[in-house]
Amino acid sequence: MVKIRLMNSMTRRKEDFVPLDPANLRIYVCGPTVYDRAHLGNARPVVVFDTLYRLMRHVYGTGHVTYVRNFTDVDDKINAEALRRRAAGAPGTLEALIRGRTEETIAWYHADTDALGALRPDHEPRATEYIGAMIAMIEGLVATGHAYVAEGHVLFRVRSYRAYGALSGRSVDDMMAGARVEVAPFKEDPLDFVLWKPSDEGLPGWSSPWGRGRPGWHIECSAMSYEILGESFDIHGGGLDLQFPHHENEIAQSACAHPHGAFAKIWLHNEMLQVEGRKMSKSLGNFFTVRDLLDQGVPGEVIRFVFLMTHYRSPMDWTAEKARQAEITLRKWREMTAATAPGSVHPAVVAALADDLNTAGALAVLHDLARAGDAAGLKASAGLMGLLSDGLGGWDDAGIDLSPWVEHLVELRAAAMETKDFSALDALKQALIAAGVEVRMAKAGVELVAGPDFDAARLAAIPGRVRSF
Ligand SMILES: [Zn+2]
Repeated sequence: MVKIRLMNSMTRRKEDFVPLDPANLRIYVCGPTVYDRAHLGNARPVVVFDTLYRLMRHVYGTGHVTYVRNFTDVDDKINAEALRRRAAGAPGTLEALIRGRTEETIAWYHADTDALGALRPDHEPRATEYIGAMIAMIEGLVATGHAYVAEGHVLFRVRSYRAYGALSGRSVDDMMAGARVEVAPFKEDPLDFVLWKPSDEGLPGWSSPWGRGRPGWHIECSAMSYEILGESFDIHGGGLDLQFPHHENEIAQSACAHPHGAFAKIWLHNEMLQVEGRKMSKSLGNFFTVRDLLDQGVPGEVIRFVFLMTHYRSPMDWTAEKARQAEITLRKWREMTAATAPGSVHPAVVAALADDLNTAGALAVLHDLARAGDAAGLKASAGLMGLLSDGLGGWDDAGIDLSPWVEHLVELRAAAMETKDFSALDALKQALIAAGVEVRMAKAGVELVAGPDFDAARLAAIPGRVRSF
């Protein structure tokens, strides 16, 4: 068995990884709040934790790793966006506008992460599907004195959890001194954070023992990880920007609600992303999304390669020059491996990744394999890192947006339900499948994924497209 070592943010030490259950290794990563396109910085944890997931599947077996990444689909930013749209004259109820926005954003997110060659997690829970679990957890915290009710809010009593601050290495008193904490008259202590808050009529809400309201952000992850992975699991990941207060709050809630569990054994945090040496920000004019890059013709695989060049715990600098170099390398490697079946993964690549995800070291081994002319070894080893796969992550099909086809299928299905004539719907489904698109139709919605045999030319040749793109 390959020995994996990971830098645990909680202990600040590189530790030998020992799974709680080697037959079911469990990973939770904080996912996006779905109100807008993913910017490039949001994509970094996607690639980092996808690489971890791939490594774990390689070492422990594909069926023995459970990877959960949530969607936060209840949040004040989503509400604000829906209210903005309504004020701009968008038709429909606020609920419908919110649902429309979150559905749209999740479809964008999937299209972007697929283009980056990231595997879909095993579970992608949406917060709105776990409100009951959140309420139950909050009730438990109130019953044990770790939370209290004040003016329709439920607040977590931070000073009731002695280890608060252990992850980020801050004491409660330091936090008070540096206070960017929200002061509210109904809080016992300014550090106490919201578990539940009231919703007025203009906002989405659920009935609860404390009246109609909605959950705070932090409780969402604690409830969803508990429901899907249990009270103890192996790895919790996320961006360094989430360490405080989000992860401290997750730990406090989960440790107090499930005192016999360990919550997460290992914490991993990826550093932030810069652009051409500067912090990415709207005011500096260097703010862009994954979709912007894909639309400019930068293949998702090139973005992934640039990310992998920097160790996840170092700040990473996105530069146009790095993207250019990555593209040259990948074109060369793709040419070299085009007619080659993958051989076996080189142990030095596994060893580099097993050493706290040393992706730069693993890429150096790929360069060596390319120089040595080992096309089969290169293809297999690059495949472990999500590179050089056939089809997507690729080039001509980079940035393919399947959402118009989703819309078309939904329309045809609605029409077929009326007329009981399913021939047009079936014809389009068959044409998409023939173009290598995986079609998943369920009551809740339609999902299209470009599969390994995806063929952009065949997709473009399907007649009757709803709009040009
Ligand atoms: Zn979280």
